[in-house]
Amino acid sequence: MDRESVYQEFGVPIVINAAGTKTRIGGSRIREEAVEAMGRAAEEFVRLSDLQARASERIAELTGAEAGYVTSGAASALMLGAAACIAGDDLGTMARLPHTDATPEIVMARTHRTEYDHALRAAGATIVDVGTNDPHLGTGSRETEPWEIADAITDDTVALGYIAKSYSKPALSTVTEIAHEHDVPVIVDAAAELPPVANFRRFTEAGADLVAFSGGKAIRGPQTTGILAGRRELVSSVAAQHLDVHAAEAVWEPPVDLLDVDRLGGVPRQGIGRPMKVGKEELIGLLAALDAFVEEDHDARAVEWRERSTRIAASLNSLSGVTTSIAAAEKVAVAPEVRVQVDADAAVSDAVGVVRDLRREEPRVFVGADSLPGAFTINPMCLDGEETDYVIERLRAHLGDEST
Ligand SMILES: *Cc1c(COP(=O)(O)O)cnc(C)c1O
Repeated sequence: MDRESVYQEFGVPIVINAAGTKTRIGGSRIREEAVEAMGRAAEEFVRLSDLQARASERIAELTGAEAGYVTSGAASALMLGAAACIAGDDLGTMARLPHTDATPEIVMARTHRTEYDHALRAAGATIVDVGTNDPHLGTGSRETEPWEIADAITDDTVALGYIAKSYSKPALSTVTEIAHEHDVPVIVDAAAELPPVANFRRFTEAGADLVAFSGGKAIRGPQTTGILAGRRELVSSVAAQHLDVHAAEAVWEPPVDLLDVDRLGGVPRQGIGRPMKVGKEELIGLLAALDAFVEEDHDARAVEWRERSTRIAASLNSLSGVTTSIAAAEKVAVAPEVRVQVDADAAVSDAVGVVRDLRREEPRVFVGADSLPGAFTINPMCLDGEETDYVIERLRAHLGDEST
């Protein structure tokens, strides 16, 4: 890989990304349309609430939700969404978060717990999880029962939490039905569930009150952006807790569609979301990326991903001790990942060694490490043609000989 890199100019090794849209190695490649728009956005000033109001309309159009908001990532969208569910339009609660007079709880199936739920807790909520991990452990086949979720809802419940994956159980529509019977909103983490573009609407249609998407994954907007789509009064609370509102009351006139000043009854203090600010450049970058993402030929992109995955798998299959398979896209990720199983007794190295050694090279090569110790994965989403060839060459250098 012989290219001029700004990272190398600063003495930092670049990464060839065969792991997919992982934040720790930079997420995705931002679209040219977004970079260009961000450059132009940097030249002038704009009132951020005006820009958020426009973004709200665009997000509503795309998702079918009443309103929307641009955050500094899907995780930030989850935190802000939780803060809105806790505080509503109460200025006092907004000012006190993450501390509250009450003990706000977010109920979710235990099988939906992820490390991202720190974002929900950061707003001041406690997570109450229900159900078991039996299917995952092989100790039983029963998933979380709808009645267990209903049973956990109390006066302290401010929301239900849900992680959207194609295999998530119970079905989202079942969970939203329970929630709405109890007058409680549902916050859905759909950070990585794009494409297909149809998923923009899917979770709102299933009854979600707030849905979080990442702007820095397949949308390929700025890395530090996310989208929250949902009910108007919750988005209004998000805006009140996120915008910089150090403002004199007499001249504070945020856009009425975004922020219901009458309902608030005063100017909020700087809210819990203020440390997660979103700049004008990121906001414009995300809007430009959204337009390009929606217009993109997703079928052609899917064919390209599959071709790359097939080529990678075929090039490794003949190596001794190595077996490859390609996961159906919707099973684990939005793209067809190659799973590379390494039999340490028959191969020249083992999966852990290969993953570690690839990361130590320059450029670093990152493959997916979630299936260690016996296997690793290769995701085609962030590889171009030349990089695919390079990854194949490096993998073959570490995995050695053709079997006879
Ligand atoms: C990536 C991801 C997030 C975080 O998204 P950011 O935009 O990086 O904040 C949250 N939840 C899930 C399930 C994710 O895959």
